[in-house]
Amino acid sequence: MSRKVWKCYRCGEEIVEGMKFTFTKQGPIHWECFRAEVRDSSMGVSLRM
Ligand SMILES: [Zn+2]
Repeated sequence: MSRKVWKCYRCGEEIVEGMKFTFTKQGPIHWECFRAEVRDSSMGVSLRM
């Protein structure tokens, strides 16, 4: 069995199945990287989790 592995487009680290992550238009990203990205830009002002 092969585990699914993605590559975070923000930090470049691997994302292993089971980790918290999400997909955006740009690709897979760690949840924490996504949070940081949203904080850095203004695209997710209404996104509160
Ligand atoms: Zn990342």
